Amino acid sequence: MTRHIINLLELARPRSFRLRYPHNIWREETVMDFELTPDQQKVQSLARRFAQQELAPLAPLANAHGEFPQHLIKRMSDLGLLAGPVEKRYGGSGMDAMSYVLLCEELGRVASSIREFLTVQASLVSLSIQEWGSKEQKRRYLPKLASGEWIGCYALTEPDAGSDVSNITATATKDGASYLLQGEKVWITNGLNARVAIVFARRERNVRHKGICAFLVETDTPGFHSAPMPQALGYRASEHAHITLDACRVSEKALLGAPRDGFKVAISALESGCLGMAAGAVGIGQACLDACITFLRQQSLPEPRLADSEMIQATIANMAADIAAARLLTYYAAWLKGQKEPATRATSIAKLFASAAAMKAASEAVLLHGNRGDPDRYPVERYYQDIKALQTYEGSNQIQSIAIAHDLIGANAAK
Ligand SMILES: Cc1cc2nc3c(=O)[nH]c(=O)nc-3n(C[C@H](O)[C@H](O)[C@H](O)COP(=O)(O)OP(=O)(O)OC[C@H]3O[C@@H](n4cnc5c(N)ncnc54)[C@H](O)[C@@H]3O)c2cc1C
Repeated sequence: MTRHIINLLELARPRSFRLRYPHNIWREETVMDFELTPDQQKVQSLARRFAQQELAPLAPLANAHGEFPQHLIKRMSDLGLLAGPVEKRYGGSGMDAMSYVLLCEELGRVASSIREFLTVQASLVSLSIQEWGSKEQKRRYLPKLASGEWIGCYALTEPDAGSDVSNITATATKDGASYLLQGEKVWITNGLNARVAIVFARRERNVRHKGICAFLVETDTPGFHSAPMPQALGYRASEHAHITLDACRVSEKALLGAPRDGFKVAISALESGCLGMAAGAVGIGQACLDACITFLRQQSLPEPRLADSEMIQATIANMAADIAAARLLTYYAAWLKGQKEPATRATSIAKLFASAAAMKAASEAVLLHGNRGDPDRYPVERYYQDIKALQTYEGSNQIQSIAIAHDLIGANAAK
């Protein structure tokens, strides 16, 4: 078995980690096994084959037409990818965190809209139900989501509350054994075709995050309306919905978790979503590097070729180094999660670094391609738009930086 020695001094500040992990993982020279298990290798090659053979031919057209290729939902379910990390007893494949990261990386490398669909369905929605749902909720929703019979969405963001979740104003008013939901949600991925939505609403005012509840709302409930959002930058083949809740009545059994758990549900979902996003960013960065290498190799005349320029060579080398580092950080966060160790900071670092590295790679790739825009031959423009959007959502880069700093120096250290 190949074993590599890596000095983790820079990677993970081992002194503080050593205190937390007494089982001696964090020696200054730590032996880490970088080889994927046979199961992880299987997921990687299945996801790669699916992405390259079935997604790649569709991605440019889906993007140009702004249409999500719906038939792929069933296909991903048949391949066991749609509910990858969900437990087998609920119809999932029981993938570990590393396998899930490999899956998101391969999808992100080809089509970010599909990767986005999957991370919402599998991670934000299904894993939240698996973690917080009652037995009845798990039995009712998880198999349907795993088979693709039902699509799920996660409705948190509002017109005036995005990064600061505790600002949400949608209300949940108790009325006998039910709640009346009222408010608006924006940017909701998968929101047009979803059959079930995790909706966050406020039951109590003046207690900020403690007053938030999470509900599982079936989208045919009277008072639940969704409409398409205007197209924005990137993710053109994804669905994004504006959801209106107008006296939408749900049973108290629709609560996901306890009444005051809504904020915890939201944050735990975003944490697991963030890992898939970091992997998606690694995929986009790798796709930019692949595209640049192909472009440079295909150039024959005139001499001197672009590939002979040392400045271009340095661009490619730096891009490769950044993507390799982003991949290691992302795999490291997945590995921590797989070891059931705290992975929040490592995940934020991975998302922050990987999305910045991929953003830089996409910018360089567009420049190197001389802004050629034919999407069938030169997909770099799509990568450029998708990575910019990825930096914004499920915790923008500023928000990730704030979270990392708070974890390191304490939230109120400056006060
Ligand atoms: C493609 C896409 C898909 C999405 N899918 C979903 C979904 O499925 N469900 C859902 O609920 N939401 C979704 N969103 C919404 C997304 O999570 C929000 O857009 C994001 O949280 C930012 O919120 P906001 O737009 O309200 O911006 P704001 O919170 O107003 O932030 C605007 C800018 O200010 C920065 N900022 C905010 N606070 C600070 C601070 N304290 N210090 C420094 N900078 C700060 C932010 O980083 C951002 O750059 C999606 C968004 C996109 C683009």
